[in-house]
Amino acid sequence: MAEHPPASLILALDQGTTSTRAVAFDRSGKAHAQRQIALAQHYPGDGWVEHDAREIWRAAHETVTAVAEAVGARAIAAIGITNQRETTVLWDRVTGVPLGKAIVWQDRRTAEACAALKARGLEGEVQRRTGLLLDPYFSATKIAWLLDHVPDARRRAEAGEIAFGTIDSWLVWNLTGGAVHATDATNASRTALYNIAAQDWDDDLLGWFGVPRAVLPQVRDTAGPFGTAQVAGTGLPIMAVAGDQQAAAVGQACLGPGLMKATYGTGCFALAHTGGRLVASRNRLLTTVASRIGGAPAYALEGSIFMAGATIQWLRDKLRLFDDAARSSDLAAAADPGSNVMLVPAFTGLGAPYWDPDARGAILGLTRNDGVAEIARAGLESVSFQTRDLLEAMAADLAAAGEPAPHALRVDGGMVVNDWFCQNLADLTGRTIDRPAVTETTALGAAFLAGLGAGVFASIDDIAAAWRLERRFEPQLAGPARDARYARWREAVARVRNGG
Ligand code: ADP
Repeated sequence: MAEHPPASLILALDQGTTSTRAVAFDRSGKAHAQRQIALAQHYPGDGWVEHDAREIWRAAHETVTAVAEAVGARAIAAIGITNQRETTVLWDRVTGVPLGKAIVWQDRRTAEACAALKARGLEGEVQRRTGLLLDPYFSATKIAWLLDHVPDARRRAEAGEIAFGTIDSWLVWNLTGGAVHATDATNASRTALYNIAAQDWDDDLLGWFGVPRAVLPQVRDTAGPFGTAQVAGTGLPIMAVAGDQQAAAVGQACLGPGLMKATYGTGCFALAHTGGRLVASRNRLLTTVASRIGGAPAYALEGSIFMAGATIQWLRDKLRLFDDAARSSDLAAAADPGSNVMLVPAFTGLGAPYWDPDARGAILGLTRNDGVAEIARAGLESVSFQTRDLLEAMAADLAAAGEPAPHALRVDGGMVVNDWFCQNLADLTGRTIDRPAVTETTALGAAFLAGLGAGVFASIDDIAAAWRLERRFEPQLAGPARDARYARWREAVARVRNGG
């Protein structure tokens, strides 16, 4: 009888906001097969954003099956799942049918519920227990909204008939044929119902947000067993679950204190790993669970920018300055170095550390000499300046905790193919910018974690050894010039925040 080679590939299922992807990686991080399906966005009201959970499950099933068939299901040692975070699904435990559409992380419909909790003076206590702020972004108020608006949902939830999950739980439940209702600590840490120090659901939080305990999934380690998925006629173990930004941090081998990554897609998410130490933010950053492995939680400080690559999209599609995002670098390189144009992309308000929903965008400092090139440059620079805002807030929080601020920033995401941008990021932040060989870090991180769970990697050090630097960008701008430019950025932000 022919011997089968040992299964050595890891299948990553990356369920993102705009698409669902499955990728089979080997232990060096090389992709052997992949499939992707776009996801429909639903905007049924002002500030409302929904997904169809059944469509997500169908796409997950289809992409996972196609990749398993392409590489042979027997070659797959384990599945790792990574997902858009906070997005909320409720479903019937018996029929598996979702109660209405999933409420997406971007959805703002629960702003009033958050304001009411703030008015009760609860933000400090919520932040102390969860590491989060009172904002519609997180799952808790979305769950309560569904329970209060879907007929009979609250009564049925209290009777134990309804399950809640973020997208990871929804996929695990479906992949295991309803056998496992679980999430991992990184996803739990984004619900605002989870005490990140105690590593448990918190009864006070459940009471304040109006969520019955009976709907909650069990919380497991990030790397470890989540049941068996039936794929292409074979039972495959699900060995990891992690939220997308935490998975990206693992894909960047940001696995210990002093390491920091930023992902530049539509928006930008920066995470600074703080090891086993939970560092509270005094600068309106979030404290989040980076991973939980072998029962030991690791933490990170997180900051997000709403408009990173989306600023370049706006310059392309709305101002029509160029027809390809890649052109932005040639234009920026040709811009007059003496120009003082600033673009503040506060199209939907400003994220960390400002958290100002009312600010709006502006282009400031225009002279008659400024044109397309100078505005394109200001667009790219706005992402670097906003990164410096995050890094300053992180450095302040870390200093207050007696921790050193990391000097190097590992970058990934669709924007970092732009060399001009990476150099500008080094110049305007004064940090070393490291770009890895594999910039598909989210899926890769899920694969690394599942590989750890399945024993393809023996330890965290094995993952760190698999990370490869592609190019390093060092700052070339002198400190005083950098600070003068940053002062101008802060002035521009102050003007859009005060109504200009
Ligand atoms: P997401 O996962 O959020 O959809 P991606 O990681 O795919 O985003 O990155 C896409 C973003 O990167 C787009 O917003 C696009 O404008 C931007 N982008 C792509 N190529 C470039 C480039 N060469 N220069 C600047 N921005 C770019």
